[in-house]
Amino acid sequence: MYDGAAIAITKPVFLTITLTLPKRKKMSDNKKHPGYLITVLSNKCPRCREGHLYTYSNPYKLSTITKMNERCPICGQPTEIEVGFYYGTSYVSYFLAVVFCAASFIAWWLIVGFSFEDNRFFWWLGVNGVALIAIQPLLMRLSRTLWLSWFVKFDPHWKEHDIQKESIERIVPEQMGNW
Ligand SMILES: [Zn+2]
Repeated sequence: MYDGAAIAITKPVFLTITLTLPKRKKMSDNKKHPGYLITVLSNKCPRCREGHLYTYSNPYKLSTITKMNERCPICGQPTEIEVGFYYGTSYVSYFLAVVFCAASFIAWWLIVGFSFEDNRFFWWLGVNGVALIAIQPLLMRLSRTLWLSWFVKFDPHWKEHDIQKESIERIVPEQMGNW
């Protein structure tokens, strides 16, 4: 009689422990975060990979191309982590432009081809030049996003951690955007 009662009590407890614990763990592990490439290409915060870095989504509004949120709207990560932080990005956008030219050269070569007997090479020069100007705002944003992503690490559990110390200790609020 007592045996039956003991089983009836212990069994559900045992079951709930074994069933709920692995399930909970799995749920937090399964929370999908976008990959590095997608984060960078969509100009999102490198720390949480969710917040938008730029205040205005349209990169072709010339006055606000590089206008960034001071902090990530989702996790609070500052976007300008030291004075003149984005100074080096001109090298990055230069590099991206070179990569773009090389890719368009190869694509033109495969699709259109080059010849000494006509102007196909000069057509490529023209088309490539126009395309390069057209994507300039995108490259400017991408180079800043890339730059920040090399200094701020992805933290899938950012809610439980403080912002990386080394990514905020050199901030001088009076000097922000002042270079
Ligand atoms: Zn963030």
